[in-house]
Amino acid sequence: MRKPYMRIPFTGVLAAPTIIPESAKALSGAVAALEEFLVAPSSSSPLSGTQPSTVVLTGAGISVASGLADYRGAKGTYRVNKTYRPIYYHEFLNNNEARKRYWARSFLGWTTLYKAKPNASHFAIKHLNDLGLVRSVITQNVDSFHSQAHPNLHTIELHGYLRSCVCTSCHEELPRDDFQGELARLNPTWAAFLREILASGALDTENPDERRARGIKTNPDGDIDLPGAPYTTFRYPACPRCLASPPPTADGTRATVEVDSDGAWIPTSTAGILKPAVVMFGESIHHTVKAVAEKMVDDADRLLVLGTIKKKPIAIVNIGGVRGEDVFRVDLDPNQHGSQGIRVEIPTDELLPTLVKQLRSSNAQNIHEAPDYIMKIQGASTFKDMLS
Ligand SMILES: [Zn+2]
Repeated sequence: MRKPYMRIPFTGVLAAPTIIPESAKALSGAVAALEEFLVAPSSSSPLSGTQPSTVVLTGAGISVASGLADYRGAKGTYRVNKTYRPIYYHEFLNNNEARKRYWARSFLGWTTLYKAKPNASHFAIKHLNDLGLVRSVITQNVDSFHSQAHPNLHTIELHGYLRSCVCTSCHEELPRDDFQGELARLNPTWAAFLREILASGALDTENPDERRARGIKTNPDGDIDLPGAPYTTFRYPACPRCLASPPPTADGTRATVEVDSDGAWIPTSTAGILKPAVVMFGESIHHTVKAVAEKMVDDADRLLVLGTIKKKPIAIVNIGGVRGEDVFRVDLDPNQHGSQGIRVEIPTDELLPTLVKQLRSSNAQNIHEAPDYIMKIQGASTFKDMLS
């Protein structure tokens, strides 16, 4: 069996965090420290006045309460699924077999993400913005939960988003859900299998043994081969725009975009390959996205780091140790005030809603309390211009 590549290098058990201030070990103390952190007057930018100056940084930990797996284990170590081998960008671009394998897996996995919803942490960030305390969000997550929970709060999705596919030739985007429909049409045996395993509840669990018991059988590489429909025969559509009008190549001629009789991309093509609109391993974050995120951090007075480290008052809310935490801790005094920096280890979906409630009660303003609702984002207009 070939040696699997690991998505994230395995690390040993990280040191347990020192909770700062000491009182933040309890929920009430953590809420009080965070309130102090968020409402402290701006020291570095007097011009910002009463404008919110906190930028929130989020990572995978914030989506765990939505049912999405975190790569990190309970103690901050990385869970390694030994059969899981991520696809690299160059491999996706150059290897049709690798693309078939990717899309076959993605076809089965999409429903789980599509049905998942933002959780109390995402909505609490919306409320912190409503309270005038949060200016913007930078997330590493590709699940679009931030855009769904707070569509009006400026959010940068550093690693892209799974809600869309993007053409590697013309950069046109199309909704992943429409693409899913095309995958189902082109791969009827897989579509029937997906209906079957959805009905069995096999996709409701991340546990490989339970999945096997409910009808998902994987080979030693972790792939699913269906009788009569191995993933090597999996088909995926070409970019509709490139198919209609093949893009020019570097030498000025037209690229070739060809499909079979059902509309599936075929390997005689030299363009029109769709990929998920996420930054794949081995692929760089677009320089514009990176520059915007860096400016947001530079302009902020303080950073609230949730579930995922600059020299600013910083509040870290994360279960388990954070890589580089020992460096961060050097400047922190365990007896300091919440306005100077905080280290908390309480789940965000428990801590943030309590914080919002506390801020509302200590805030004299009358805040209109509308129920949390979810905006389903179709397509991807948010940062399309930056990525094209
Ligand atoms: Zn295209």
